[in-house]
Amino acid sequence: MMTYDGNKIKIAINGGIGFGAKLNAKQLVTISKYMKEDEELELTTFQQLYIEVPEDKKNEIIEEFERVGLSCYPVGNFVKSLRTCNFCKGEEEEGMPVAKEVNHRIAGKPVPFTLKVAYTGCPVGCGEPLLNDIGIMKMRDRYNLYIGGKAKGKDAKVGTLLLENLTPDELYASLEKIIATYAEQGKKREQFHKFVKRVGVDQLIS
Ligand code: SF4
Repeated sequence: MMTYDGNKIKIAINGGIGFGAKLNAKQLVTISKYMKEDEELELTTFQQLYIEVPEDKKNEIIEEFERVGLSCYPVGNFVKSLRTCNFCKGEEEEGMPVAKEVNHRIAGKPVPFTLKVAYTGCPVGCGEPLLNDIGIMKMRDRYNLYIGGKAKGKDAKVGTLLLENLTPDELYASLEKIIATYAEQGKKREQFHKFVKRVGVDQLIS
């Protein structure tokens, strides 16, 4: 247990992309080293835990977390770590390496407002891709890309199909372009679905 009275900063952690959103005992023990007995972890709807750590020790704590296989991400107006399904049909068939590469390329990028991207390994859609800002659905050996889903509010809606039958490389390039366009042209705190409505779909794929 750690006692500390200086500034703290919130970071997001999870066990990385794998078969289900899991943590092992070693990871839990490592996390608890940085918590007082009365402190709490916040479990978000996006397969992340929020923990507050001493700001001046942030980098070394992240290194320690990463050594036990935890992934660490910033909290705030960034692309969140990729939400995924549980890959129940197997790593290769469901494209886990592609999901890992997507996460590696986009998670943590600064954007005007928190951006949620979800991946699902088959059309059953357990990762709920159509309810997120950007959704990826594996269809046989290709990928469909959806944008503009909105899970919250009375005006909740499902995303619309933007691109289909993408190869992994086409998927990476499309995602990076969409996110770069949003980062450059989005207004401060403009939510992604509002941004898409304002600039139009053509702007994102031209
Ligand atoms: S989306 Fe498909 S592969 Fe992924 S957990 Fe659901 S059924 Fe399994």
